[in-house]
Amino acid sequence: MSEKSQQAQSVLANLKAVLPDLESVYKDIHSHPELSMQEKRTAGIAAERLRATGYEVTTGVGNTGVVGVLRNGDGPTIMLRADMDALPVREATGLPYASMVTAEQNGKPVPVMHACGHDMHVTWLIGAATLFAKTRNAWRGTLMPVFQPAEETGAGAQAMIDDGLFKRFHKPSAILGQHVMVGSSGDIGTRSGVITSAGDSFEIRMFGRGAHGSMPQASIDPVVMAAATVLRLQTIVSREVAPTDAAVVTVGSLQAGTKENVIPDEAVIKLNVRTFNEDVRKRVLAAIERIVNAEAEASGAPKKPEITPLDRYPLVKNDPEATKRAIDAFRSYFPAERVKETKPTTASEDFGSFGTEWQVPSVFWFVGGTDPETYAKAKKTGTIADIPTNHNPRFAPVIHPTLEAGVEAMVVASQAWLSP
Ligand SMILES: [Zn+2]
Ligand SMILES: [Zn+2]
Repeated sequence: MSEKSQQAQSVLANLKAVLPDLESVYKDIHSHPELSMQEKRTAGIAAERLRATGYEVTTGVGNTGVVGVLRNGDGPTIMLRADMDALPVREATGLPYASMVTAEQNGKPVPVMHACGHDMHVTWLIGAATLFAKTRNAWRGTLMPVFQPAEETGAGAQAMIDDGLFKRFHKPSAILGQHVMVGSSGDIGTRSGVITSAGDSFEIRMFGRGAHGSMPQASIDPVVMAAATVLRLQTIVSREVAPTDAAVVTVGSLQAGTKENVIPDEAVIKLNVRTFNEDVRKRVLAAIERIVNAEAEASGAPKKPEITPLDRYPLVKNDPEATKRAIDAFRSYFPAERVKETKPTTASEDFGSFGTEWQVPSVFWFVGGTDPETYAKAKKTGTIADIPTNHNPRFAPVIHPTLEAGVEAMVVASQAWLSP
């Protein structure tokens, strides 16, 4: 065992003792999920926990964001990030601590669920921050835990940056973040370079001319226009993107009309794009615009469609040197089979904004949250796709060993910088 790994061990010596408390924090946050930019209660818990263990705490950064600072002698500053928000999803896990919460979104009540596991991320970071505060003789430097709002809308990291994160706090030497995903519980997966895709979402409003359903000749039917557009959009990935490149174009919402015998005036398409490099991204976005306009014209639309960007996520690129440092630390602590090299995933994250805009090397990794037996069985039978993924109403990470693995990973990776 390396010296750094021994230092990590001594920080983690208290993990077992704090685990029951962390488990209750996790269940509490899980059953009280909050939508993006409404994370007041969650932020309050994070702030209170940090204060109790001696961190200087700044709240309200970028609306509900929380930044802790713990100075512990000379050494690098390491920023550790967790996102706090939940999703407008009705929980169907059947867990005893399942969410029954509803909240208001755009003036309407919606069910809310931690369907992306950000409750786990908050708990991991509380755990790691607590353990570091308890064992100050095992490390040197400054720890900066950051609890970020609104990852799910792509607005949270930017809101913290716009609120002066880079001016109000010391520039770190590295930024670390982690996400729970489908995978054998406790396994760590990461890679050097691009790890999550760029994400772009758009709302497209297509205009026709309404008429009685029995008189199509008097209409310009936006339902047919939108249907043709949706089908043609499928050819972007199959016909315009090289087989060696990757992209996703998903139409997640298509809405038009109110009644079977009324041809409506317009149709609204909402779509989402994922890409792994800027050239492919530009090409896909240009193709969408071209197809949408051409289909409107083919239908004889009275005016051009309106294309409105909804949200945008940057590529998350792991710095090669910092990633190697983190992986070496993981390998010297975890059993070899638990540290895996992953492929880039088509999920997107705004974690990348911190490192890119602050010009600080950052590392992001995944922690498996699926019951190991279930996962092994699914792998054997080729049914991994049947395991509920993030954002599914049945997404339910097993608490153990997912909870301890995320705390361990955060401590072990941080120690790769903070060890004296
Ligand atoms: Zn998510
Ligand atoms: Zn997420």
